[in-house]
Amino acid sequence: MTLLLPLSNRRRPGQGWRWQRLNTNMANMAGEKRLNLPAGALTACRKCPRLVAFRESCALHVPPRFRGEVKKHGFWAKPVPAFGDRNAFLAIVGLAPAAYGANRTGRMFTGDRSGDFLYAALYRFGLASHGASRHRDDGLKLFGVFVTAALRCAPPKNRPLPQELAFCRPYLRADLAFLSRLRVILALGRIAHEAVLAAWPEGFPKPKPKFAHGSQYLLPGGVVLVDSYHVSQQNTFTGRLTASAFDTILARCLELAGQGGSHGTGRR
Ligand code: SF4
Repeated sequence: MTLLLPLSNRRRPGQGWRWQRLNTNMANMAGEKRLNLPAGALTACRKCPRLVAFRESCALHVPPRFRGEVKKHGFWAKPVPAFGDRNAFLAIVGLAPAAYGANRTGRMFTGDRSGDFLYAALYRFGLASHGASRHRDDGLKLFGVFVTAALRCAPPKNRPLPQELAFCRPYLRADLAFLSRLRVILALGRIAHEAVLAAWPEGFPKPKPKFAHGSQYLLPGGVVLVDSYHVSQQNTFTGRLTASAFDTILARCLELAGQGGSHGTGRR
């Protein structure tokens, strides 16, 4: 199902009613409120034993091609915080850190081919200061965009268990609730799509929206969920998701967010 979104239904930056509702939701979720604090609580999380063991074992078995980078910047091996602009109108939700990507570097979509694809696209639209993302101290800035994930620890073979997604849900919910100017959520893949629906503080439309590349759904509260194939190598190297197809999705996100004419807010 694809829903067209009347402009008047969209949340405007600074709309107070919704922000108040979100604050109320968050106040009622004491644990989540605490987890919404930057880095500290999240990066100390050890709730999923399987994932803790895996994320830490990756640091002990670094492939030769990453050893130079690890020597310079270290190996993160902890839950990865969300990254981007706290005034974002667009939230991009991925699956999870890659074992030797974000799990190594400590920043979402940083240090792997998925990140190369994603940040190059954001740069083309003026939504990122650089078209590459190498390590967490490389100075990359995002404009109007916030990048997060369904799961904050790398899962073996990129396959999280349902209980691990449930344990990690409060972090995603807190991120989404905290973005007071959010207007569009771009879900990268089916797991991200499902995670957004489960985490969205105001529930989801009935019937439950199904994942389909290019679909868009109006969520309660006026934010639009847009679906795309994930930017994984598996999709981009096989041509399932091309740069131009992803640009089409991003252009739609900007249009839905009321940013269609400006293509970005930062880099010029
Ligand atoms: S996946 Fe999420 S809930 Fe599980 S240990 Fe990592 S941060 Fe904690």
